Amino acid sequence: MSSALLSLCRLSIALPLLAVLPACTSQMADPMALSAMKHGRVLLVHDQAQFQALMTSVRPGDRLVLADGVWRDFRVDFFAEGQEGAPITLAAQTPGKVILSGRSSLRLAGSHLVVTGLVFRDGYTPTGEVIAFRGEKGAVATQSRVTETVIDGYNRPSRQESDHWVALYGSDNRFDHNHLVGKTNQGATLVVVREPRYGLDNRHRIDHNYFGTRPSLGSNGGETIRVGTSHQSRSNSGTVVEYNYFERCDGEVEIISNKSGGNIYRGNVFVESAGALTLRHGNGNLVEDNVFLGNGKPHTGGIRVINRDQTIRNNYMEGLAGRSFASAIAVLNGVPGGPINRYDPVVNASITRNSIVNAASIELAAGADQERSAPPTNSRFTQNLIVGAEGAEIFRVLDDVAGIAFEGNVQTPVQKPALAVPGITRHPVELARAPNGLLYPVDPALSGIGVRRDLQPVAKEDVGVSWYAKDAAPIGFGSGRTLEVPPGDGTLSAAIAKADAGDVLLLRQGLYRVDEVLAVSKPLWLRGDGEIRFTRPSLFRVEEGGSLRLTGVTINGADAPDATGNAVIRTADGMGRNYEVRLENSVFTGLDVNKAFHVLAAGKGTLAGFIQVDGSTFTNITGTVLKLDAETDDLGLYNAESVEITRSSFSDVTGGVLSLYRGGKDESTFGPRLDFTGNRVTRAGTGQQAPSLRLHGVQAIRITGNRFTDSGMVSVVRTVGEPVITIQDNEFTGTPKP
Ligand code: CA
Repeated sequence: MSSALLSLCRLSIALPLLAVLPACTSQMADPMALSAMKHGRVLLVHDQAQFQALMTSVRPGDRLVLADGVWRDFRVDFFAEGQEGAPITLAAQTPGKVILSGRSSLRLAGSHLVVTGLVFRDGYTPTGEVIAFRGEKGAVATQSRVTETVIDGYNRPSRQESDHWVALYGSDNRFDHNHLVGKTNQGATLVVVREPRYGLDNRHRIDHNYFGTRPSLGSNGGETIRVGTSHQSRSNSGTVVEYNYFERCDGEVEIISNKSGGNIYRGNVFVESAGALTLRHGNGNLVEDNVFLGNGKPHTGGIRVINRDQTIRNNYMEGLAGRSFASAIAVLNGVPGGPINRYDPVVNASITRNSIVNAASIELAAGADQERSAPPTNSRFTQNLIVGAEGAEIFRVLDDVAGIAFEGNVQTPVQKPALAVPGITRHPVELARAPNGLLYPVDPALSGIGVRRDLQPVAKEDVGVSWYAKDAAPIGFGSGRTLEVPPGDGTLSAAIAKADAGDVLLLRQGLYRVDEVLAVSKPLWLRGDGEIRFTRPSLFRVEEGGSLRLTGVTINGADAPDATGNAVIRTADGMGRNYEVRLENSVFTGLDVNKAFHVLAAGKGTLAGFIQVDGSTFTNITGTVLKLDAETDDLGLYNAESVEITRSSFSDVTGGVLSLYRGGKDESTFGPRLDFTGNRVTRAGTGQQAPSLRLHGVQAIRITGNRFTDSGMVSVVRTVGEPVITIQDNEFTGTPKP
């Protein structure tokens, strides 16, 4: 654009309302935009009343410009009819400087509408959707576009309250170059809603978006994208999801839940995302040119294949640690003649020219059980490259796979092959990293095996917007200042009130008395060798955004009130964000003024991403050290994703060391998991119905190298899935064996 034109554009938005000027767009080279210039106006909007007034007279080619600033509680109803070549645009005055906060939302209905440059944050939608391509009374948007828009942490306060951030209705809409990060509450981040009255052939395009961190939800409903629902899944949507970047999208087992036919998933990059692109319902989908990079993170998966006529080709997978439904490739068993919301058998799947490098698992006939009894048929697995380390077999075959034809696959040697078929040749393969960042065989004879040489993964800087940082790393313990806190009455309370996120509070030897419940609403780290005593029923209350790390401190419950159910650390009920607690080299004692005095008691509707106990001592406790069992509705919810207890000593703990509960049959989540290693447990779990470890529905359990003496049993109850349980090299004295 010429500098004269540029200054005209700048001038236009400084003029009063209804100044009529040629429309300027950020993409002047676009012929569509040039055409709009001929008859459109640029209308600068300062407040909600002006916007509503303008919407009654807006014409094709017009460009409504929202003035920079924070717009609170703005329900943007963008209902209008543009024309091909003359769309009606709603834009930020400066991209990224128009903030929609509080209870704001956006609805589009009509056709040829464009929205660009907005940021949603510091609030949550007053409806069920932040951005919806629909209006009122069944009106929808067609041939419309939302681009360069950000939704950042725009969450309902309770994680169990559901909404969608983006809902595509209508047809032929585009959602591109947007940045969506930090959804923590129930409900898919983006959904394609298909309704017969608008035609089920939607043809939406979802491309070049940045899908940033979505932490584990701890229940179903944590998908990043869902296309359709099971009811209409046997018809085609024609949606294209391409060149998007998914980073740490860990919401649940399905990163993408495809529930319709005729869709294309192409050229997307998945980085350290726990879960899989899941072809849950619908036939005839194409999954090609995608790149999955797990970097060894637990539960990182690839593609899960279900239903008929699916094509999986030229996908690259490296460092995926997921197993079972989150395998690099999982081909499921189906339910013969099952209802539409169950698993249709795999028929006519083509899985070809994929590279699977250093992955943990490929599962065939996955999920086989009494109900899922139909193995894949009429399917092909060809020219795939499978490179692993140390001779470990990554194929796992759970039922008859005679219905899969293997041809031209190459695998590095394994000690005990799970598949004895001629279509897999095993020999060493040397790999070299190509300029595109992917590993390829050095041997030119293998050029037809695995992914194409010219696969070009979409770069992080080419998705989303350039004006909003993608690396908003969470604030960690110790990233802030170090504040010295002298011993005394109330000194710790005063220091915590002043501390910022990431600060370290350094305690000195001596006694710290606390007469109030200390609210922890940011990551805080208490270090040092002071002793803390407290007079309220709790010492710490972890609230929204809070996390707590204690290193080297002694906590004595002797001054706590003589009442049942005290806890050193308690969480608020119903937190949106996951929290973390770490207890290192610390001592907890004298928690015995009354019954059921716990160390950590999690509230309902909360999820700890990580709880770590290391090198700590727990003695004379009437409650449970870690009480993580508030989710008792058996809906598949739970209180902690990962619990690690190592090198610690527990003695005279009436309520037991740990109660970790995950009920229900839902298969959408990975956790909880427990590592319990190198501990001494003495006279723990001695109360009525109080095992030393109570593990209900825990999905991964490792209990090794511990010594249990005169303690309650280790109770393990399986409820769902295929839990991985290792209990070995422990000593049980005066303690029932598990
Ligand atoms: Ca799901």
